[in-house]
Amino acid sequence: MSVYLNGQFLPLAEAKVSVLDRGFVFGDGVYELVPVYSGKPFRLDAHLHRLQFSLDGIRLANPHSVAEWRERILQLIARQDFADQSVYIQVTRGTPVEGQPLRDHAFPHGVSPTVFMFAQPLVTATPAQKAAGVCAVSALDNRWLRCNIKAISLLANLLLRQQAVDAGCAETVMLRDGFLTEGAASNIFVVKDGVVRAPPPSSLMLTGITYDVVLELAAAHDIPHEVRAIAEAEVRGADELWMTSSTKEIMAIVALDGVPVGAGVPGPLAMRMDALYQTFKQQVMRS
Ligand code: PMP
Repeated sequence: MSVYLNGQFLPLAEAKVSVLDRGFVFGDGVYELVPVYSGKPFRLDAHLHRLQFSLDGIRLANPHSVAEWRERILQLIARQDFADQSVYIQVTRGTPVEGQPLRDHAFPHGVSPTVFMFAQPLVTATPAQKAAGVCAVSALDNRWLRCNIKAISLLANLLLRQQAVDAGCAETVMLRDGFLTEGAASNIFVVKDGVVRAPPPSSLMLTGITYDVVLELAAAHDIPHEVRAIAEAEVRGADELWMTSSTKEIMAIVALDGVPVGAGVPGPLAMRMDALYQTFKQQVMRS
């Protein structure tokens, strides 16, 4: 497998980073995950825009222009022998240089960021998995207040996701101050009486690329939808709950904390939105 590290394409086993890299020592970095269908990156500009937002958020200068990123990502994709890929991009604040403290919270001067990318086969849910849906648990959102930065320091998200795994479920639906924020690694949509609802983008959640596409598809196909704060009672009283992400796409949550959501099976709007999403993907692949 060929990965990218600081300007070079290398076999995975040869890609080496210092143990002093601030990504390793502090989790001081940001990342992106771009789905690739039939060799074509999906919404690459939006991912690169979000990467810029994350870099700005952690005060790290972007080491590449959009054109440079695009070129490198397309080269990485072309080097893989599988067509559907998930491209992981990570930029850290790099490794302290000679004469600098080995570990210091303050940003080091004159240090180049570490840029690492790899591609894996993209594994999305099968139609049978989509037809079954998944269960979720709820938890208090105890993360920091800058969740719109796609930071590599994901410890809180990992602990939250593990609560779902321990309960035999797929996702943890998070609530902060009585309102829905998002999933541990997804955005959450609520359906009630035929209206699709999602919380508004804010620093309390990551604005998913899939979230944006779902709202665009709802608008384009006259599906009633609303972007507004969603209270816990609305989550618990929903007809349908969905989790969305680049890899999960639109996945129905059929039980929350052991209680069936609506009829306890994927609802009609989840299935409709997933069908629209699949058609949209096909169009992107052909374009
Ligand atoms: N929120 C969080 C916390 C996530 O980790 C993800 C997945 N990256 C998402 C939302 C969904 O984002 P996207 O649709 O861009 O995959």
